[in-house]
Amino acid sequence: MPFDLASGLAERRAAHLYRQRPLLEAPQQPEVTVDGERLLAFCSNDYLGLASHPEVIRAMQQGAERWGVGGGASHLVMGHSTPHHQLEEALAEFTGRPRALLFSTGYMANLAAVTALVGQGDTVLEDRLNHASLLDAGLLSGARFSRYLHNDANSLASRLEKATGNTLVVTDGVFSMDGDLADLPTLCVTARSRNAWVMVDDAHGFGPLGKTGGGIVEHFGLGMDDVQVLVGTLGKAFGTAGAFIAGSDDLIETLIQFARPYIYTTSQPPAVACATLKSLELLRTENWRRDHLNRLIERFRQGAARIGLTLMDSPTPIQPILVGSSERALQLSADLRACGILVGAIRPPTVPAGSARLRVTFSASHSEAQVERLLDILAECWNRLAEEPGTDA
Ligand SMILES: *Cc1c(COP(=O)(O)O)cnc(C)c1O
Repeated sequence: MPFDLASGLAERRAAHLYRQRPLLEAPQQPEVTVDGERLLAFCSNDYLGLASHPEVIRAMQQGAERWGVGGGASHLVMGHSTPHHQLEEALAEFTGRPRALLFSTGYMANLAAVTALVGQGDTVLEDRLNHASLLDAGLLSGARFSRYLHNDANSLASRLEKATGNTLVVTDGVFSMDGDLADLPTLCVTARSRNAWVMVDDAHGFGPLGKTGGGIVEHFGLGMDDVQVLVGTLGKAFGTAGAFIAGSDDLIETLIQFARPYIYTTSQPPAVACATLKSLELLRTENWRRDHLNRLIERFRQGAARIGLTLMDSPTPIQPILVGSSERALQLSADLRACGILVGAIRPPTVPAGSARLRVTFSASHSEAQVERLLDILAECWNRLAEEPGTDA
């Protein structure tokens, strides 16, 4: 039998799970052109509005002039250039850890950390709502892999009792599809009582959270004794691309020696590192971006409550509206789009069955007036959706 791809695709379509890629015909900013339509977007992860910042653009241009375009080789061969090294030093200082290691994507950083730290005979325990890259990393590692109930230290503790070998507890800092925070103070105490290490992927916390944008560990005041492996990504609030892992000297050396997703890949273009050095500076120092973002989030949550929307327990720029069925989530997303608002519908398997949602995200580059417009249109579309008979579970 040849591959029957067509029937797999047809099934996905019939289940309202078919994915399409909106074509963005503008830089990252609130008002964009997508598939030829002018839309107000609430679905970017550019939380601080740095992706199109003129100074960040300039830093990348100057970086390209000085360092060329391609990374040229892997870090261990001849691709580790001065901007990469300077960025690693700046990220170590920013996170208050001895060292940081730069990666081309967050997906690779997660694969690298988990597979370098645990293998056969070891144990990796993950929150069941962790990002796909962390779950994939756990499977790839060959370690005993088990998922604990979301944010549940008791569920973690019972799995820790059965753990063998080196044990790594892995969690998102901010859960990417829910926007809630990991209960890190409790999880870290639980892990430490069994000599397990904690790895936090704070892709969505760096930038919005913490006094200087230092993410969930800054928010909770946690050091390297609590979180031994700290991962950040640079494609979200930093507005550029890539990722980093921060931790002890031994951790970073272990990754350089043993992490295959670090070793067997070309370094990121050095000009991207130049851009990130600039965006790191803006992220740390321009507190008004966080303040403004928090005002927008607060205003949205008040307004959404008035409309009767079901939000999640999120203090972050990720503010999902729970809808339930994939069909209704798609309908609401389409209704909003017809009114000029772009918000993505997130469906299974990205989120658990029956919990399809619209993932609204805010950026410091949104204005208060734009949030008001979102609320007005949401009220209209939500009421219309409520009048339509539901056709599926
Ligand atoms: C986006 C994301 C990643 C992947 O990072 P990329 O740099 O986009 O590959 C990893 N973890 C979490 C929690 C994310 O949200």
